[in-house]
Amino acid sequence: MKDLIIIGAGPAGLTAAVYALRAGRSVLLLEAKNYGGQIVNTPEIENYPGLKSVSGFDFAQALYEQATGFGAELVYEKACGIEDRNGIKAVLTESGHEYEGRAVIIATGAKNRPLGLPREEELIGRGISYCATCDGMFFRKKDVAVCGGGNTALEDAFFLSNYCNKVYVIHRRDEFRGSAKDLEKLKTRPNVEFVLNANVTDLIGDAKLTAVEVTDKLTGEKREIPVSGLFVAIGQIPDNLAFTGVAKLDGSGYIEAGEDCRTGTPGVYTAGDCRTKEVRQLTTAAADGAVAALAASSGLE
Ligand code: NAP
Repeated sequence: MKDLIIIGAGPAGLTAAVYALRAGRSVLLLEAKNYGGQIVNTPEIENYPGLKSVSGFDFAQALYEQATGFGAELVYEKACGIEDRNGIKAVLTESGHEYEGRAVIIATGAKNRPLGLPREEELIGRGISYCATCDGMFFRKKDVAVCGGGNTALEDAFFLSNYCNKVYVIHRRDEFRGSAKDLEKLKTRPNVEFVLNANVTDLIGDAKLTAVEVTDKLTGEKREIPVSGLFVAIGQIPDNLAFTGVAKLDGSGYIEAGEDCRTGTPGVYTAGDCRTKEVRQLTTAAADGAVAALAASSGLE
């Protein structure tokens, strides 16, 4: 049995592991996919204090090495429930295993929100992507589109404009949620075209994506934009339904907890993007990881 089981090895979970291990606790990390979480998809981080510029991949790698260097164990299994057994927490996984801990931190982050269009899933890997850093190079010298108006969309479009012939940025409003600095930087690129007040309403192409249908929100006019790739960057959705037995979710599926990261169930904490909060940044995920780990560790005294 471990002192602490941390579900999710993204920035929040890995930071929690570092803090708990340095507090003398034993830690098991459970991760459904890959360590690092969504930050591995970010081409360049420029707003993490003390690091002028680092790729998301390098950042995740360094944090993973830091946590495992302190003694964190990592098991690649998807947690599908938490049971309380006389104060001991049993974390159940989809592989049919159970891991016991004296406390649990849920740090499951969030996953990419799909557009919800017919054939979107079928065309993943055939033109549809949710990760510009992972798949951008496949579209070298081709025309692509990015859908979204947040930081991810702006950064993805900038990254893709280095390699692609043309990058359309399709956004449902004419104002951007992403940072003004990134927007200005993007506007300097001659191969970027903004398609504003517009929604992607259809995906065209049989075996592969060949075009997207875009509908102007103001006029209702439809047009086809020929592209080989569509990068969907319209935010994230949480994945916390497995934990409703021990944690309350808000209307959007985020775990309800304040800045102290306590869920209301003794011994169960939550950290990072999966928690209800105003600001979801790398810094706030790391901060949550520290707060949750220290609270969990002192709760074991
Ligand atoms: P986001 O900030 O939630 O932005 C999502 C964008 O997609 C918004 O522009 C939104 O439009 C649009 N959208 C949402 N649902 C849509 C739909 N169904 N159809 C069409 N468009 C839709 O998501 P994000 O850009 O992934 O960023 C998530 C968080 O990570 C943010 O807090 C962001 O600041 C942070 N982040 C930070 C960095 C960095 O600091 N380097 C990099 C990446 C992300 P509306 O604006 O109209 O709502």
